[in-house]
Amino acid sequence: MQKLIPILDNGHGGIINGRYQTGGKRSPNWDMGVLYEGAFNRWIVNGIMMVLDQLQIPYYHVSPELRDVSLNARVARANKIYQENPNTYLLSIHANAGGGEGIEGFTSVGDTASDPIAERFLEVLENDLPKEKMRFDRYSDGDRDKEANYRVLSKTNGRAILLELGFMDHPEDYKRLWDPWNRQEKINSIVHVIKELHV
Ligand SMILES: [Zn+2]
Repeated sequence: MQKLIPILDNGHGGIINGRYQTGGKRSPNWDMGVLYEGAFNRWIVNGIMMVLDQLQIPYYHVSPELRDVSLNARVARANKIYQENPNTYLLSIHANAGGGEGIEGFTSVGDTASDPIAERFLEVLENDLPKEKMRFDRYSDGDRDKEANYRVLSKTNGRAILLELGFMDHPEDYKRLWDPWNRQEKINSIVHVIKELHV
């Protein structure tokens, strides 16, 4: 793997004129208010792009719009980039919900070139964020990533990784997702690996 370039994807829609563009995909209305996943995903991806610009590390971005770009469009954009530059990997950023705690990573099912990349992201996140639970799927194939048939993972032709950076409906994770310092740590960990993969 030489000089790999990330194709960044912030999951779901953003906020346009005060209106969140995606149904569901939000935290409960706890003390800090409703956290909209699509907004959070943009905070992270925007932070990653800012640091990469400063480091002069190249990247692609498949979902720069605030509207919720369909999964098919995201996949088509990623595949077009992959066709032009196979030395890439899709990195889709999300926050989780549905009862659980911690960070997890997904790749498509089976042994693929995405697995060692997902493994490395999770390894660094685990190391940098010792207080956070890591939800590793150690039983299926020994890797830390959980394999799932997310469309951005199964329909993309190139390497693809999806990171869930915490549960919006877990009280501790909810606080972390709102915390700008915690977000910056996650951004730094992700950039650390992006840098490593670009050498
Ligand atoms: Zn999501």
